[in-house]
Amino acid sequence: MTYYSGGNNTVPSASCTAAGGNTGGNTGGNTGGNTGGNTGGNTGGNTGGNTGGSTQNCSAGYVGLTFDDGPNSGTTNQIISALKAANATATVFPTGQNAQNNASLMQAYKNAGLQIGNHSWDHPHLVNMSQSDVQSQLSRTQQAIQNTAGVTPTVFRPPYGEVNGTVNSVASGLGLRVVTWDVDSNDWNNASSSSIRSAAQRLTNGQTMLMHDWPAATVQALPGILQDLQSRNLCTGHISASTGRAVAPAGGSTGGNTGGNTGGNTGGSTGSCTVTGTAVAGESWGDRFNVTYTVSGASNWSVSVNPGSGQSVQSSWNATRSGNTFTSAGNNSFGVTFYSGGNNTVPSATCTAR
Ligand SMILES: [Zn+2]
Repeated sequence: MTYYSGGNNTVPSASCTAAGGNTGGNTGGNTGGNTGGNTGGNTGGNTGGNTGGSTQNCSAGYVGLTFDDGPNSGTTNQIISALKAANATATVFPTGQNAQNNASLMQAYKNAGLQIGNHSWDHPHLVNMSQSDVQSQLSRTQQAIQNTAGVTPTVFRPPYGEVNGTVNSVASGLGLRVVTWDVDSNDWNNASSSSIRSAAQRLTNGQTMLMHDWPAATVQALPGILQDLQSRNLCTGHISASTGRAVAPAGGSTGGNTGGNTGGNTGGSTGSCTVTGTAVAGESWGDRFNVTYTVSGASNWSVSVNPGSGQSVQSSWNATRSGNTFTSAGNNSFGVTFYSGGNNTVPSATCTAR
């Protein structure tokens, strides 16, 4: 990739992180499942899910990191990488003009799970404009964001934080909550990366901080900010359109567990053996019949048979029986005598590796 050097030609360090909950869960689940059936699947799934999902402690609450004026080819991808590396999220407030000119970076915002808000079309002083011009600034931006990222913003950050009655009523007519900030990083005013990082140390539960998607110092400060928040048990959230405060991102914290359980169960049950039932020729009598079940793919297995309407298990051989479940006793086939109840269809069965 190409870096702007800012006079510093040291090769930037980089870190790599697996993606979040779903990936962790499914990978763990499928690996566990294929190796060891249900037990392996569930264990692998849960471990993978929990590890991949949320290892963060959010006991101190959520804060909102916000990045205005993007997307920009020089900084957007770096901000996204830093957030991803820390399993963090943020709210971005692109202008409509930048959104329209950088559709793929808008997609990158969206794919990174960031909340996308409205920041006007081209960053004017809205308080000096007529109602119809304000309307045009905000609605064209809604449309550009919808066209490029496929989402409709519910929060609006006025340029320069300037609001009046007209701005408020236009925003509210478009379903937008006006949000400013609690902490100003002053990154727009040439603040150093260490001073931006210090500003973030003032954030408390529910608060938001103003930053921008263009200053190099912001990109430089971000990993440290995320590290500091984590050490204070604060997680990054999204801005609630109903309260204007930072809250847990929708669906975020359950990702790991859901991914784990789903991956585990899926991996487990599709695991590693199959069973086929065949009626034994000549062994069907008035009220009962014999079936041989043959297992392949595993030597240590458990098979559940599913007697049909009127049917029930009378007895079995070559396997250990518990109800309608049979476990291997050193053979890869076993037999079952079913009471037919007038129904001679061979009952289906499912196999699980143990
Ligand atoms: Zn701005």
